[in-house]
Amino acid sequence: MSKPKLLLHICCAPCSASAVTALKDGCDISFYWFNPNIYDEEEYRKRKESAVKYAAFSGVKFLEEENFIYDYSSWKDRSKEICSLCYEIRLEKTALFAKNNGFDYFSTSLLSSPYQKHSLVKDTAEKFSKRFDVKFLYKDFRDGFYEGKNLLRRQGYYMQKYCACDKSYRERQLKIKNEN
Ligand code: SF4
Repeated sequence: MSKPKLLLHICCAPCSASAVTALKDGCDISFYWFNPNIYDEEEYRKRKESAVKYAAFSGVKFLEEENFIYDYSSWKDRSKEICSLCYEIRLEKTALFAKNNGFDYFSTSLLSSPYQKHSLVKDTAEKFSKRFDVKFLYKDFRDGFYEGKNLLRRQGYYMQKYCACDKSYRERQLKIKNEN
């Protein structure tokens, strides 16, 4: 019997490792890359390259929006409710892509990070699941987060130092400054 087709939104390679471990035996996984929230372009390129490399290593297809052009300014100005908007933008596209491309389910690596707002990620995905009539596969991947991340660290994958947006970048810089 063939496995159900799952579109897994991947925010970065380290966060996706625990989701891949949890899902690979039961699902035919494809990665979906859509992360316009990453600041800046150089950081975007590093995270994407790392995700592409991890897809090849895991034997998973890497999919993305065909005509996407990185433009951080257009993303940043859209709302002040920044984390909720950040989840909405990415999960709406993921659900729609899953629906339009014949996937049985969609899910996201955002559910693996203990640094994300887990319930808000889940609620947002459920909202778009209903809106586009495509199933959302919910699983709490947080248990395997550090194990997956450390495995990729040992294998030399790029490890980001902040969540993604310019605000999280500035917060990280401030923390470093205060520690010195
Ligand atoms: S902190 Fe992370 S989740 Fe929140 S807006 Fe920034 S990049 Fe998105």
